[in-house]
Amino acid sequence: MDCIFCSIVKGEIPSDKVYEDEFVYAFKDVNPEAPVHILVIPKKHIKSLNQINKDNVKIIEKIYLAIGEIVKKEGINETGYRVVANTLGDGGQSVDHLHFHVLGGRKLTWPPG
Ligand code: 5GP
Ligand code: ZN
Repeated sequence: MDCIFCSIVKGEIPSDKVYEDEFVYAFKDVNPEAPVHILVIPKKHIKSLNQINKDNVKIIEKIYLAIGEIVKKEGINETGYRVVANTLGDGGQSVDHLHFHVLGGRKLTWPPG
């Protein structure tokens, strides 16, 4: 299977890693939309939020625990941040490997476009 984010996890494509544990990998987005823009992904390939079920939902807990550490490390835990999982076409998902954008370091606008 050809998946950019699986290749990043394997180290075949270089990335600017900010966090890693047994299940979760996080790295800087190559095209940042904010001063802090990090992608947090499961190491195991999961296509989108639609593939989360009772057997694999523990990964969401691990991802959010990782996000808690990442925002502290990046110094945005007090100023605020946004976590977004764009999903499928209307959601604007361009990479078919589940990922959570963590955005911060500036005032983010709402609603999104
Ligand atoms: P999506 O559009 O699916 O919500 O988010 C995909 C994100 O992955 C985009 O923000 C894009 O900039 C980022 N991205 C795509 N390819 C790469 C890559 O090879 N390296 C890194 N670091 N980010 C990537
Ligand atoms: Zn993948």
